Amino acid sequence: MVAAKGGKRTVPVSRLERCKPCKGSGVKEGQKAKKCTACGGTGSMRITQGGFQFAMQCNACGGEGTTIPHSARCRSCEGHGLVEETTTVDVDIPAGVDTGTQVRLTGKGNVPDRGTGPAGDLYLEFQVEPSPLFDRSGADVLTTVTIPLSTALLGGSVRVPTVDGDVELTIEPGTQPFSKRILRGRGVPDITTSMRSSRKGDEIVTLRIEIPRKLSEEQREGLKRVFGVKLESKESKAEREGEGKGKKEEGKSTSPLDEGTDKTADRKDKKSGGSFFRSAFDRIKDIKEGLGKEEGSGKEGQDGKGREGKKEAKDSV
Ligand SMILES: [Zn+2]
Ligand SMILES: [Zn+2]
Repeated sequence: MVAAKGGKRTVPVSRLERCKPCKGSGVKEGQKAKKCTACGGTGSMRITQGGFQFAMQCNACGGEGTTIPHSARCRSCEGHGLVEETTTVDVDIPAGVDTGTQVRLTGKGNVPDRGTGPAGDLYLEFQVEPSPLFDRSGADVLTTVTIPLSTALLGGSVRVPTVDGDVELTIEPGTQPFSKRILRGRGVPDITTSMRSSRKGDEIVTLRIEIPRKLSEEQREGLKRVFGVKLESKESKAEREGEGKGKKEEGKSTSPLDEGTDKTADRKDKKSGGSFFRSAFDRIKDIKEGLGKEEGSGKEGQDGKGREGKKEAKDSV
């Protein structure tokens, strides 16, 4: 909800800060850093390579020109001048942040490892916790509400959660499962265009319809009457199924596949032999299957019988 409406958070961060006892120098109080012997205090080394001279940062002192003897090192920073500190920062969370949104906190980052320059910036990346009620799609908020079957059929209203609290949504009679309703401006501020944008996304509500798993005898009888469902005997059911089967087989005998092949054969001379070869191939396949049946025994024989039965049924149509 903080992501949607904005707010404040105190977050722990660990960053490099200047060491306080030595004020970032890395040297114990009362001691001094020594001139680097490797570079003579210049911080750079000159090397000659292929007739050219290069200036390189001194390895021994890291370009500082000074080294801190072990005995003179600051105890708390081991001579580095920097310490890692865990602290907290207060963050203003802009409304509409999403997972991956970054904010920059100027001057709240690490201090530079050399010199006395200002601290860098701290970048925070948000990770929005999933909500049990809402999903996000950019500035749009997605939610699903379940309505009773009776409301879907007859109309009515349903309470819908929004980031600003519940609202009443009117349901039209004849509402379909998984239909969507858009609540304009009920999303979160669109921060992708500008942090100060006043444009808000929408809330998209998906309507789920709850179908009762059980009906009382009264409800069942009532529904049958209302929807004109006839009481069905077992015989009439079987009769209906038989009709369906008959239709299917009719369809088989005038195969749409063969028709298609014939059409293409008319158009393209090259393919004119296609349907002939196909039927020839089918015949060979039938012969082969027949052979298989004769050769096979036991289980395979049974299998062959099944196939034969099928073929007979086909022939009889
Ligand atoms: Zn040096
Ligand atoms: Zn120190």
